[in-house]
Amino acid sequence: MSLAIRVNGIEFSKTIEIANKVRKLEKEGKNIINLCTGEPYLPTPECVKKATISALQAGSTYYSDSKGILQLREAISQHYNERFGVQLDPDKNILVTPGAKQALVYSLLSIVNPGDEVIITSPAWPSYSQLVTLSNGKPVTVENLSNPVDPFPVKQISQAITKNTKAILLNSPHNPTGRIIQKQDLSQLVALCKEKEVFLISDEIYGRIIFDKYNHQSLACEDPNFKTSILIDGFSKSYSMTGWRLGYMISSPEIIAAAHKLQQNTVTCPCTFVQHGAIEALKNGEDFIKDALAIYQINRDLIKDFCDTQNISLVEPQGGIYAFVDTSSLFPDSLQCVDSLLENYHIAVIPGVSFGKNVKEFIRITLATRTEKVQAFIEALEHMG
Ligand code: PLP
Repeated sequence: MSLAIRVNGIEFSKTIEIANKVRKLEKEGKNIINLCTGEPYLPTPECVKKATISALQAGSTYYSDSKGILQLREAISQHYNERFGVQLDPDKNILVTPGAKQALVYSLLSIVNPGDEVIITSPAWPSYSQLVTLSNGKPVTVENLSNPVDPFPVKQISQAITKNTKAILLNSPHNPTGRIIQKQDLSQLVALCKEKEVFLISDEIYGRIIFDKYNHQSLACEDPNFKTSILIDGFSKSYSMTGWRLGYMISSPEIIAAAHKLQQNTVTCPCTFVQHGAIEALKNGEDFIKDALAIYQINRDLIKDFCDTQNISLVEPQGGIYAFVDTSSLFPDSLQCVDSLLENYHIAVIPGVSFGKNVKEFIRITLATRTEKVQAFIEALEHMG
């Protein structure tokens, strides 16, 4: 008796596996400074929790509309209208899903046929290649140089397009580097996708977490009709709602209908009462986003200043919740750095190799944590140096 090829072809999530290991150590009573996780440490905003509890008490415990409750889709439409001036039909352009990850699953299952290629820039969030493989597609990697002054590799992506290319996956702000695509690069990418008749999937889950003078460049501005493109967003990172499992996709009526079919036949709908909390997040969550960002910015500046003064190379985080630090001046392979941090300083981080084969001298740490933890990390590196 054998398992399906589709399951044997994919791996456990590298980042989740490490996070689970750290959780286990913590449960065993070990005091670990956990800089692994891809989730903000702040609690979900109080107003979101209250709205959810009220919804629960009012009986929102049944299946919801399988696209997500209309009020939430209207709030998402209004939110995108306010941010980018885009007009979205809540009925035709938006599908609420159990997490942004699920929206990615539906997107790929809706467009990828066996053998189709999907271009992913590397380093990348490890789930992208796994999800393409799960969809019977073939992940094609284009190296994206980590230095923020290097241009986004539109030319290399263009050269990687073949007759089998079905989609390009973009993630900005980026996990793990924190880079943001610039406006002209995004316009060129959109134009390229149209010319070559390739779908563009833009994962903008970190789009509300932007540092300094940078601006989030959204697909919503460059391709407001979403004819052949899909925007992925959600509540996990912006509003500290990772455990709520709530995301959404924005696209053309045709793609949304395809994804809706998948949702109806798999999970039916996202959890009903948490959707009421999400409406509250969109309506009254701005202060939370500002306060959280102020903390992440302090952490990001601490890391950046430290790396600058110590001549440690860092991909300057422009947005998102991570810093991708090159530790090759301390250890030739960052796995040694990861081991030493855990063994000698009880600090858990993710090795660069989890995100791509050409970044094994890097480690990823989270910025969405208490500043004391980032300081402890800096002190550990100072001590190692
Ligand atoms: N996209 C990227 C780039 C991520 O890093 C993550 C989570 O780490 C997700 C999507 C998943 O988001 P969600 O929690 O909404 O499924």
